[in-house]
Amino acid sequence: MQKHQHEVIVVGAGGAGLTAALYASQHVSTAVISKLYPTRSHTGTAQGGIGAALGNTEEDHPEWHAYDTVKGSDYLGDQTAIEFMAQEAVQAVYELEHMGLPFSRNPDGTIAQRPFGGHTNNETGKPVRRACYAADRTGHMILQTLYQQSIKNKVNFFDEFHVVDLLVEDGKAAGVVAIELETGEFHIFHAKAVIFATGGHGRVWEITSNAYAYTGDGVAITLRRGIPAEDMEFFQFHPTGIYKMGILITEGVRGEGGVLINDKGERFMEEYAPTVKDLASRDVVSRAMYLEMKAGRGIGGKRFLNLDVTPEVVNKYAAEDGRTNPDGSPYRMTGEDIFAKLPDIIDFCETYIGVNPVTQPMPVQPTAHYAMGGIPTNMYGEVVIDKENTVMPGLYAAGEVACVSAHGANRLGTNALLDLVVFGKYSGLKAAEYSQGSSFIPLPANAADFAQEQFAQLHREDGTESVTDIANEMKEVMFDHVGVFRVEEGMQEAVDKIRALKERFQHISIDDHGKKFNTDVLNAWEVSNLLDLAEVTAVSALERKESRGAHSRDDYTERDDENWLKHTLAWLDKDGVRLEYKPVDITKYKPKARSY
Ligand SMILES: Cc1cc2nc3c(=O)[nH]c(=O)nc-3n(C[C@H](O)[C@H](O)[C@H](O)COP(=O)(O)OP(=O)(O)OC[C@H]3O[C@@H](n4cnc5c(N)ncnc54)[C@H](O)[C@@H]3O)c2cc1C
Repeated sequence: MQKHQHEVIVVGAGGAGLTAALYASQHVSTAVISKLYPTRSHTGTAQGGIGAALGNTEEDHPEWHAYDTVKGSDYLGDQTAIEFMAQEAVQAVYELEHMGLPFSRNPDGTIAQRPFGGHTNNETGKPVRRACYAADRTGHMILQTLYQQSIKNKVNFFDEFHVVDLLVEDGKAAGVVAIELETGEFHIFHAKAVIFATGGHGRVWEITSNAYAYTGDGVAITLRRGIPAEDMEFFQFHPTGIYKMGILITEGVRGEGGVLINDKGERFMEEYAPTVKDLASRDVVSRAMYLEMKAGRGIGGKRFLNLDVTPEVVNKYAAEDGRTNPDGSPYRMTGEDIFAKLPDIIDFCETYIGVNPVTQPMPVQPTAHYAMGGIPTNMYGEVVIDKENTVMPGLYAAGEVACVSAHGANRLGTNALLDLVVFGKYSGLKAAEYSQGSSFIPLPANAADFAQEQFAQLHREDGTESVTDIANEMKEVMFDHVGVFRVEEGMQEAVDKIRALKERFQHISIDDHGKKFNTDVLNAWEVSNLLDLAEVTAVSALERKESRGAHSRDDYTERDDENWLKHTLAWLDKDGVRLEYKPVDITKYKPKARSY
């Protein structure tokens, strides 16, 4: 078996992994392992923008950004981490600019900014332009920029290697085990510090904006090593995925003046969020859409609504709202403006559904989008493994796989890309510092056994169950019962179903038993990860008897701070999921009712 040694191993080459690697590699030998070629990571699909209170076109402050984030999180976010993220945001965006990121510009040459859901002027309550963007390809530009910098700085890359286990010695992280896609061989990566930056797990649900690779590998691997997962019941449904496909239509469309319309031609968000309307936070908009559809006001009675960014509709509502440009003139859009600001959206709609957004509305429905929960960390990316926040030496996590928690029960748009660069940076620096003060822990000869046993199980010869059927049944039950709206019976049904599916998974049949490019077996392993995450999510959700942020229940409709202002920690033991709770870090923003 091939063995490799680097002081810091980063698992994942998206925005978080590449930022962590860039900073760690300035100090110690660093390698990035990625199951995808780096620039195919999901970060490259991010469209709308990265949040930072630059105040380029109007007054804005990091303190306002922090407060909006706390409020958006429905008070479950940890406030020291949130204040840190909002403060660091400004420098982080300028660092990206100096690395060469081609942001869209204002006429005066400064970075252009657009409004986004939940970002407000804290004095007027009106939307503020805080999202820095590169047309509707912000994530693509971030990923390309970081990858170019990583190559320039000679970071080592192992592309198309699937990490399948974390090595733990004496309670400390000591490396990872990976399978090389091309050869099917197991490799051992010996490290002083390991940073997980493996992204999210939206593939648990039927309709999702997430890439096929979003199978929650990092959380599943650490759960199997006895590390808890935090706040897994909070999974964000983005209001505007293309009907039936889930492909994302960025919130930037509403930022540019697009509005949601029901079957009666009404701009229904006026009812649900009178001040910010279509730019309320995502949980609020997704819930409003669900209620409209439930009341029979979906378009043609179906399960979608229209998102309209045609110039006449934008201009009509902009005039009604009294929206102005930065220079005070009335806000108006032409077809050319829309084309310049949302080129990819127009392209997606024309390609996938034959709709031209400049002249026609887009059919949209809520789509599973973002994991607020994940591997618990503090704001330096150090993984914490219990309710006292005890640090596990040598283990770090950053990006969507991590739960800092800067997003609490609901993430604001543009704060994920920000999370990558802020917490990616600090996890890289902390891992390097830790490595410099520690030595390699010797690994036992059988270090790869646990991983190899898992794969031996997948290759059984006598199985009959189809991996695809199991995955589809999981996605359906999770979308129906652990989605935008939840009730006791439905969630219980989901828990029971997932457990039955896990049982059936013991008897799967795989066609390909070869070694080279065996995507069949790797896909089966990914589905086993999704099943574990689905179970943890459904059990965590079932237990939380309140509505907060993305966790919205028909049977407990109110937020209950007295009993539930706390984070969930879930362990996956042999007999199922075990839950404990830990306090929320509250500094100056005391919980109050949300209004928009
Ligand atoms: C369509 C879409 C649009 C979005 N738009 C925005 C936006 O405008 N603004 C915003 O703030 N946020 C947005 N988000 C959210 C944000 O883009 C993501 O949360 C963020 O990019 C995740 O970055 P990451 O570095 O954590 O993970 P990723 O970029 O997904 O990278 C994960 C990496 O981990 C690797 N990996 C995973 N498992 C393994 C394994 N087992 N072994 C080895 N490698 C592994 C993958 O190869 C990949 O390189 C959007 C998300 C989506 C899906």
